Amino acid sequence: MLIVMDIHAGPEQIEAVCSEIRALGLSPHPMPGAQRTAIGITGNKSVVDAGRFEAMPGVMRVIHVTAPYKLVSREFHEADTVVPVGDVRIGTDRFTVMAGPCAVESAAQIDTVAARIKQGGGHILRGGAFKPRTSPYSFQGLAEEGLRLLAEAGRRHGLPVVTEAIDGESLDLVARYADMVQIGARNMQNFSLLRKAGRCGRPVLLKRGMAATLEELLMAAEYIVSEGNPNVVLCERGVRTFADHTRNTLDLSAVPFVQRTSHLPIIVDPSHGTGKRHKVTPLSCAAVAVGAHGLMVEVHPNPDTALSDGPQSIDPDQFDNLMKQVGAIARVVGRSLS
Ligand code: PEP
Ligand code: MN
Repeated sequence: MLIVMDIHAGPEQIEAVCSEIRALGLSPHPMPGAQRTAIGITGNKSVVDAGRFEAMPGVMRVIHVTAPYKLVSREFHEADTVVPVGDVRIGTDRFTVMAGPCAVESAAQIDTVAARIKQGGGHILRGGAFKPRTSPYSFQGLAEEGLRLLAEAGRRHGLPVVTEAIDGESLDLVARYADMVQIGARNMQNFSLLRKAGRCGRPVLLKRGMAATLEELLMAAEYIVSEGNPNVVLCERGVRTFADHTRNTLDLSAVPFVQRTSHLPIIVDPSHGTGKRHKVTPLSCAAVAVGAHGLMVEVHPNPDTALSDGPQSIDPDQFDNLMKQVGAIARVVGRSLS
């Protein structure tokens, strides 16, 4: 186990951790580094309880040295990674909003929504062309035609675009048309797709699987980064729990965990995270308050007629209101929206 001290930890805090280790009958090995001190522990025959060290002043984090991810970890790369998507930078003090319909349905639909997202202050246009639907009889997306319409709407309104690839074949097409490739919750552990995304030459938005731990999410990101693509943005989109008032349970505590453990940016998707339109704005506010680097929200010109995810889609007027509320909270937590 390795205890990584905060950059600002003083000698007394380092000594306090060392005595706590000695009190357990173990040996501390302080290793001063250029930026911070790490303290190795030897002598343990079983797992040492990390919790007792995590709560001590000056401790940044405790790692089991067998950590299965390396490139995405904070130890490996201390500074926050900033991911460029067109002219947008994700992972800075500027909060990024990606918005658009669940699926591209027609030229008029995507154009109308793109205009309103730009006008409302959104930064990146989303819209699925390859939809991973639970039922094979549900609308599956417009495929390449959808990508063309999305790219055209993005160009017309000055918004970079993000869209999902569901397999190797669609990934080639998505990388050709889009500024950012989305890997969805259902494919978070599709390791051959992750490797291919690592070689696609585009930034990747990686969504958390609906039953994935955060360690599994980081290991999925490690697959992409290990292929030479450092531009990965993580997305918390809710996980399955026993709660039945919500489609998924949005795990906002993922944000501070990821920010402590990894240098990759993390955004929040309150649309899939709740499945209910009325919860999208409140949880968007919570996401900015908790320190997320951005949001992904589903916006449809007429949500009640949407071909997918209508119940969780907000309309453009609701999007304007969301942006106002999120902007106000962003200012309080030292972020800006524009
Ligand atoms: C989506 O963004 O439309 C989507 C299908 O998301 P998820 O993979 O999180 O379910
Ligand atoms: Mn959707």
